[in-house]
Amino acid sequence: MASFFVERKECPACNSSAIEDVYSCRYIESPVRDYLDSFYQSQGKIEYDYLKDADYHLCNCSTCGALFQKWIPNDFLSDKLYDEWIDPDAAFQRHQQKNNLDYLGKKAGEIIQIIGYFNLPPHQLHLLDFGMGWCQWANMARAFGCNCSGSEISAERIEFAESQGLEVIPLEKLPDEHFDFINSEQVFEHLPNPLEILNILQKALKPHGLLRINVPDGSKIRRNIKKGNWTFPAEPNRVVNPISPLEHINCYSGYSMARMADATGLRIIKMPIPVQLKYNVNISGLSGMLKKIVRPFYTSYFPRGVCTYFEKP
Ligand SMILES: [Zn+2]
Repeated sequence: MASFFVERKECPACNSSAIEDVYSCRYIESPVRDYLDSFYQSQGKIEYDYLKDADYHLCNCSTCGALFQKWIPNDFLSDKLYDEWIDPDAAFQRHQQKNNLDYLGKKAGEIIQIIGYFNLPPHQLHLLDFGMGWCQWANMARAFGCNCSGSEISAERIEFAESQGLEVIPLEKLPDEHFDFINSEQVFEHLPNPLEILNILQKALKPHGLLRINVPDGSKIRRNIKKGNWTFPAEPNRVVNPISPLEHINCYSGYSMARMADATGLRIIKMPIPVQLKYNVNISGLSGMLKKIVRPFYTSYFPRGVCTYFEKP
């Protein structure tokens, strides 16, 4: 295997070595190459010289049910991917296009629910956005009067956050037992060492503080990955998004999340249904209204495992 990759011999979610192969394909062959071409076309570029000897290799953990990529980019290739291949200017343009009223309404709804959950004046709440991106969530939290900081590794995004007057705290400098709530939106699927990071975040939580981890829903992956074409026009780039080559290196099951909670002294809780109902916002039309009313009950009985709340006892 190429020297630009590191092999994982254990499940990143539970450290089990009981793993089995699910799928393997060279990066320079279909459908992986077609997917990469399609996915990165609007974002930047891929230099296949770095991938030519490597396989995209998906494994399943027999213990917790997580799916994960066996060979992950080393630090050199990871920096190349996130800092060079993904063009920072194009990423900022995409952020601006996404930043519409629907999206902002959803973020506002999340913050309102958090304030409602703690039932405290917003200025008494300390929030952290882990992987703060272009600061939408953190700025929304501040708009409601919460104290909010962020963690981020991208130099461009750190610079942008500082231009917005946001405090950016490196992971290794997070204060102990400081935050009431930590948000992690579409981050844990990218992490080479999710258990280690979860442990750092739990130390930064106050007792009874909450951590929210939202990741892509991988429930259809086993079916989709067997399809010969990963770039269907009707659903461009979404077919295998939860285990997207190079980037989405972990795909968690509900049981994976439970194992991770056990390993770090956290416990999984549900956002109380009365809080979800009382602070529902961004309702559109009668069907949207019904969905917003029914969804808290439905997800309580049929959890999809994509959004998990962890409480520090
Ligand atoms: Zn596992």
